[in-house]
Amino acid sequence: MPQQATEKALLAANWKMNPVDGGEAVDLVRGVMPAITAATESVEVALFPPFPWLLGVAEVLEGSSIELGAQDCFWEISGAYTGEVSPAMLKGWCQWVIVGHSERRVILGETDDMVARKAAAVLTNGLSVIVCVGELEDHYDAGRSDEIVTAQVKASLANCSADDSSRLVIAYEPVWAIGSGKNADPEHAYKTMRLIRRVVSELIGAGAARKVRVLYGGSVNAANVESYVELPLCDGCLVGGASLKAEEFAKIVKVTSEVYGHR
Ligand code: PEP
Repeated sequence: MPQQATEKALLAANWKMNPVDGGEAVDLVRGVMPAITAATESVEVALFPPFPWLLGVAEVLEGSSIELGAQDCFWEISGAYTGEVSPAMLKGWCQWVIVGHSERRVILGETDDMVARKAAAVLTNGLSVIVCVGELEDHYDAGRSDEIVTAQVKASLANCSADDSSRLVIAYEPVWAIGSGKNADPEHAYKTMRLIRRVVSELIGAGAARKVRVLYGGSVNAANVESYVELPLCDGCLVGGASLKAEEFAKIVKVTSEVYGHR
């Protein structure tokens, strides 16, 4: 029996630092819009372009059901924080913010404490948040995935409460699976997503935890997406590289809508 938090699947398209050209960003949106619109009854889609393209993409999305998000934000509302962007600034045209992506944790040294502050700031400002967690390859090889993911979830949600549950999404993204073409075995993804739900239940209570969505991310493409979205307890996927190819992402949306349409 599926035990997802909502009837629709959630697909989050993380474009990372791509494309370099704003016109290409708009073309990419226009390329995926028909497939997303056709699947709107069973799939919720949020696009996460780089900051400079948010406004242009928002204009193209106006009047559509497609949602928009930022790939990061700061935890303060305003002030002397050079280079940072606050959730209050994103509120006008974004519904979502991703925090704690492993590329930020690993390359930029973001800690669980920073991620927790960001998640709380996003929620306080009325936006929805995707909090990313996942173990490194060494942890996976050493059989420490559960321990690492449990600690990350507990620390990253330290400032969240039961009231936030419907706007809180956790993306399980094993770091070794991101951008590597080595997607996780669905059985491993399932067990870890089940663990995440258990930890969230302990933190905010079972009732509220049922509303929290859990995604899988890591080398998802049109050929493997079905093996994740069909899992009980999986509410959708966070897609990186494959979301930059309009045709590929359109197929991911279509496959997901077929799985959810048959429920
Ligand atoms: C990501 O950026 O969150 C991601 C999962 O990337 P990819 O799909 O390219 O592995």
